[in-house]
Order: sequence, then C-alpha cells, then structure tokens
Amino acid sequence: MWSSEPEVTALVCTDCGRTMSGLDDDIIHFCSGCRSVWSLESGRLVQFPFYTARTPSEQPGAPDLHLPFWLVRISTPGISILVRREHTSSPLEFPRNFDPSAERNLESITTEPEDRLVAVPAFLCERASRIGWRVTRHLTPVSDSDVPARALAGGVVTGGEAESLAGEIALIDMRRRNPGLAWAAALPDARLKGVMAVGFNLLAHGLQLAGIRLVLPYTTMADVRALIDFLDLTVPDG
Ligand SMILES: [Zn+2]
Repeated sequence: MWSSEPEVTALVCTDCGRTMSGLDDDIIHFCSGCRSVWSLESGRLVQFPFYTARTPSEQPGAPDLHLPFWLVRISTPGISILVRREHTSSPLEFPRNFDPSAERNLESITTEPEDRLVAVPAFLCERASRIGWRVTRHLTPVSDSDVPARALAGGVVTGGEAESLAGEIALIDMRRRNPGLAWAAALPDARLKGVMAVGFNLLAHGLQLAGIRLVLPYTTMADVRALIDFLDLTVPDG
C-alpha cells in the first residue's frame, strides 16, 4: 500500500525567502507566501506563472486540498488531415506508414486553427488524459490572488511529459471532431504556459472537484495517502 510517514523536502523561495514544502519526490514547489510556483528542472528551480481554477458554480467553504495541473497551450494554424468517409476501426496513422493511394474514399480536410489551454495532471494518476480533458472542459484558469490556495503537493510530472500528454488530449479532441480520422500531417504544437492549482474536497472514497461532478477515486492516485498525511486531513467516514 503506502508508507505511513511522508518524507518532506524543504526548499526556500527565491523571491520571498519562505520555505516551500512538498512531498519528497515533488518537482513542483509552491510558495504560499508570495504565490509563486517553481519546477525543479535539471537541479535548478525555474519559475512558472501560477493560476487557480474558477469553478462554474459557487461552492461553500474552501477546498480541502489543491492539486497541481500543468497548463499547456495548444496551437496550430490548421493541420492537413485525411478522413475515411466510411467509418472503419482502422488505426490512425502518422506520415511515415500511411499510403493514401492504397485507400479509396479518403477526404482531405484542413482543421480549424486553434489556440487554447489544456490542463494536464501534474500528479501521478491513472487515466490522466481523461481527467485533464474534463478539468479543461469545466474550469477556467485565472490569475486571481483572491482565490485561496493553501499548499500544492504531489507534483511529480515534468513539463516535457505534460507537453506530450497535452498533445494526446488534443488528438483525442481531433478524433472526436473528425470521426474516421486516418492521417494527420502533424500534431498541434504544445507549449507550457504555467501551473494551475485545482481545489478538491475529500469524500469517503475519493476527491470531489468543487462545483462539478468529477469524483477522482483515491485508488487512481499514487500519492494520495502521503498527501492526506502531509496536509493533515481527515477523510470522512462512509
Ligand atoms: Zn515566495
């Protein structure tokens, strides 16, 4: 299962000198003093813009904990794709293995230009792309210092990993909008934009995202016991 005593790493905020804290393996560190967020990149602390999530409905009381999500900007001027008019379950292929002359009924389309932010879990969890997709769909990132964020722990996913995952989320969206998608000339460009703190409430069997119905079972998260101990939270019975 999990270890009973979380190990704590103490780093000092370069901006205000306060101690930042997190779990032992964290690469993302948050300073609650000046609301700055840092990622440990090749042994150096690199600062990223910090955002919180505006939820679609009012939720009484503060969240029990915040979890870190990378925000990744997905942009493309429009990509050439080929779509099978007759839907088949054939896999999507990228340029190197695809021979358009071998198939009939292919339709050539240029996708709409897009420029948007995608949220990617920075903590370890199962079905990360689906959780990221839902958070992206329901929450709006804001840099509003009035939104409280107590601590941010459990961030172990690197920025590079988040960019790859954001590309996958963009591909899921592209397939949803273009059923029968067979080939894409490229993936949308994915660039790190910042880190977003998303507030959750504790349930007996998982985390409830404030304001929307997304229950994240404890079993899907790698560090949940360490997080609960670290933040000194009490899990409700039931
Ligand atoms: Zn600070």
